[in-house]
Amino acid sequence: MHYKLLTPGPLTTTDSVKQSMLRDYCTWDDEYKTLVEDLRAKLLQINNLDASVYTTVLMQGSGSFGVESVITSVLKDSDKLLVLGNGAYGRRIEEIAVKAGKQVSALHFSDTEIVDVEQVDNFLSENEDITHVAFVHCETTTGILNPLEQICNVIKKHNKTLIVDAMSSLGGIPIDIAGLNIDFIISSANKCIQGVPGFSFIIAKAVELEKCKGVSKSLSLDLYAQWETMQNDCGKWRFTSPTHVVRAFYQALNELIEEGGIEARFKRYSENQTTLVENMKRIGFECCLDEQFHSPIITTFLYPENEKFSFQSLYGYLKKFGFIIYPGKLSNLQVFRIGNIGEIYKEDIITLTTIIEKYYNEELLGENNV
Ligand SMILES: *Cc1c(COP(=O)(O)O)cnc(C)c1O
Repeated sequence: MHYKLLTPGPLTTTDSVKQSMLRDYCTWDDEYKTLVEDLRAKLLQINNLDASVYTTVLMQGSGSFGVESVITSVLKDSDKLLVLGNGAYGRRIEEIAVKAGKQVSALHFSDTEIVDVEQVDNFLSENEDITHVAFVHCETTTGILNPLEQICNVIKKHNKTLIVDAMSSLGGIPIDIAGLNIDFIISSANKCIQGVPGFSFIIAKAVELEKCKGVSKSLSLDLYAQWETMQNDCGKWRFTSPTHVVRAFYQALNELIEEGGIEARFKRYSENQTTLVENMKRIGFECCLDEQFHSPIITTFLYPENEKFSFQSLYGYLKKFGFIIYPGKLSNLQVFRIGNIGEIYKEDIITLTTIIEKYYNEELLGENNV
């Protein structure tokens, strides 16, 4: 059975993306390297970036490897990082920095509240030794969308190097990377661009990357060294490149462009998300977040107040119909998540919620027993 994954990635991909992997490539072959170069150029194009200012680096591994590569290759021992956190992925950035022995401070916000820009402003005024600030755009923990523009503006007002984890938003939500003066932005192959898992990518200002030479204490996660090889050897990766994944990503990127680019995809995801929330509320479910904080990426719902409900029972019920949903990730609230990204359309959401309604009536209200 082919499942539709309503998860934050890996997610449902098109048949054409899957089929593009049915061929073997050699990593140093010119045809493959040309594809990598084209892919890197397209990543800049879809984000309206000037190739003389911004550049891209592809890095093996899942999204966290990309984040770790940036944090450990950009921050020198004398630098000091501030992490803004309102979820598990913000905490992961902090953990990466601590493990790497970097100087790090954090401002923690509740997982159900957006990053408070005024607090960030005050903290940066009082702590002038901070050199870099990192935060998550869409916190996939809850699906909360942090106010990107306001946060970037306040960080740049204080002249800090700006690192954005846009793992679950880049490609699905328009981001004015150049306009917001973002220095490093990180995403991965298996989120809104709709590829398969296997590498992450970093879009960065070339002048900022130039400063990273020799900083990393890791050989394989050295962002500068990876960039240098890709630049000098026209699309070559230093170590074995995930060739099939790269080919699938290239196909996915072309499909994003065919769909109408990031704006069109944003519209589709948004429609999925509003349809989902509308239908779930009608059935009797409640959203975990204040709706003004919702992203079009993934939505968190509270467990219904019904003793017959369990995530496992809903999960198993939906799986039989070909849908995979996602557990919650909050310590203080009983929640589950439904994603809207991937090759998913409004009709899929309508089918899904019709099945959830059936589950609700049969399993929770026991209507089939009456
Ligand atoms: C998916 C994701 C990551 C990376 O997670 P991996 O499991 O390493 O791919 C990081 N940050 C955010 C916000 C994410 O959604």
